Amino acid sequence: MIQQLQQIFRSIIKSLEILYVIEDAKPCARILVFEDDLNKAKVFLENQGLNYSISYFKVLKRSLQSDFYSDKSIKISKDDSRKGHFFVYLSKNKDLSEKAKIAEEKNNHFELGLLLGYPKCCCDFFEKNFDENNTDLTLMALKYSHGFEFSFYTNIAARHFDVSLLSHFPHNFNCEESIKIAKNNLKIIEKHSKQLAVTFSGILQSAVVYTLEEGIFLFRNYEKNNNEIIYRDILSTEKSKLYFLLNSNNKLKGVDKDNFSVNDITVHGDKFGVMVFA
Ligand SMILES: [Zn+2]
Repeated sequence: MIQQLQQIFRSIIKSLEILYVIEDAKPCARILVFEDDLNKAKVFLENQGLNYSISYFKVLKRSLQSDFYSDKSIKISKDDSRKGHFFVYLSKNKDLSEKAKIAEEKNNHFELGLLLGYPKCCCDFFEKNFDENNTDLTLMALKYSHGFEFSFYTNIAARHFDVSLLSHFPHNFNCEESIKIAKNNLKIIEKHSKQLAVTFSGILQSAVVYTLEEGIFLFRNYEKNNNEIIYRDILSTEKSKLYFLLNSNNKLKGVDKDNFSVNDITVHGDKFGVMVFA
């Protein structure tokens, strides 16, 4: 089933969103579908007996990260000649998919979040912190978290590599409600593909250097000793200056959630954070 979904919807995270609805883990899902793929998506959803609503507008994607709650994108008219993506809201319940579409049209983030099954604490957090200039709330969630070591279930940084068990920003990385959702989602993945569940768990258990301007870095197979992180492989979204600094070393020292030093160079700032997921 996951393979079949991926042929139509391309990304793994997106495919899983549909699977969660089919498996009753999610009341309603919202995914972006490229306009050339819309017809085959419709056929698939109809064959699965799922209801769907399609946005009246389309979006031009500015980044390649998958359909997270607030993907950076530009709204354009559905008649615009440029190729774009439509939002497709899908549910077993016809009312829900239509309500989600309307909530999005009205920019009612709080209600949309609840319709998509996100925890109320996280919908509140999103409503309070999200705006057009602040669309990635990962660092905000970190700010509201205790410490910088968390359960891998809430690793949303890995979404940049098409791996995540959540499709919303947790209000902090200790959010129990989010962890409950992520655990259930992993069980569903496991039921359909043991191998994918193992791959997901492996990638999610990583140390992360998260920046808004210099890329996102995942350290797999890291070791943490007190305030030091020793790493080998780096997954990165950008080959920035920071990437080359990290890649030419293998140890972060004096690590805290908003700074570390590497090779005696201290890195810190507002648009920057460190998280360890185990
Ligand atoms: Zn929460």
